[in-house]
Amino acid sequence: MRYTPFSYQERYGLRLQRLALDGGFSCPNRDGTACTGGCTFCDNRAFHPSYTQGKGITHQIEAGMAFHAERGRRADGYLAYFQAYSGTYAPLEVLRARYEEALAHPAVKGIVIGTRPDCVDAGKLDYLAELKRQGNIVEVEYGIESVYDATLERVNRGHTFACTKEAIVETARRGIPVGGHIIIGLPGETREMILEEASVLNSLPVSSLKIHQLQILKGTAIETEFAERPADFLRLGPEAYIGFLADFLERLRPDIAIGRIVSSVPPSFTDAPWGLLRQEELWKRLEKRLEERNTHQGDLAK
Ligand code: SF4
Repeated sequence: MRYTPFSYQERYGLRLQRLALDGGFSCPNRDGTACTGGCTFCDNRAFHPSYTQGKGITHQIEAGMAFHAERGRRADGYLAYFQAYSGTYAPLEVLRARYEEALAHPAVKGIVIGTRPDCVDAGKLDYLAELKRQGNIVEVEYGIESVYDATLERVNRGHTFACTKEAIVETARRGIPVGGHIIIGLPGETREMILEEASVLNSLPVSSLKIHQLQILKGTAIETEFAERPADFLRLGPEAYIGFLADFLERLRPDIAIGRIVSSVPPSFTDAPWGLLRQEELWKRLEKRLEERNTHQGDLAK
């Protein structure tokens, strides 16, 4: 392959299925601790699979396993994925209770935690490192979104890129694999700026990356901003987006495994200019585009 796809099988030798859970955590960017109102692009309702709503961790795990089994997805084990809001945003005792309830389930091999970089500290990271030493799979994914402070401010992110860097470095230093998430097309970012993000990420101990196009969700602040200043947004159709991804991956370190390249939420949440896109189809088109160019991930990495 011409890019490095993320694979648990490759990393752990097991076919692992993630179960998206709601640990009941909030977000400091919504409750007033960092900001109020949340990131301008966020409507967290769009990202909750139905089996996570309003139930305890063990119940959610059972429901998630049944959900995947019904769709014929077999697995050697499961990873509890604390995805909703900020998965480390609670006192350590609460995190302990949630994570350890998940790890106590016999089918669960580990935890994956999606969170904000300003929601970790040394105590929480030491605890996660301890869980890993005990033989559990532990991974953390940070919402990076952008490496530019001006953008982070404009989307009301509530933290700086220096904060992101520190969280990534401190997590990786404890031997925990770090994933990142970035958004292509945030307001004020040009094509060149986004391509330059690849070199910034190359300088950090990130082992995987999810890349999403900006989706303008109905009812969000960014919907209004886009209506008022569309020229500030790099909007790409699917074909142009594939070409842009090829440009981006050519600049990205080849050992950074790519987890996703597109985000798709239910049509009721978005203006859906692309319709509902299938990851598999885009992966194929990306591979084809790199083949046509005869390039690979990392060929232009600095
Ligand atoms: S940090 Fe996440 S959950 Fe919180 S407002 Fe931003 S996108 Fe939404």
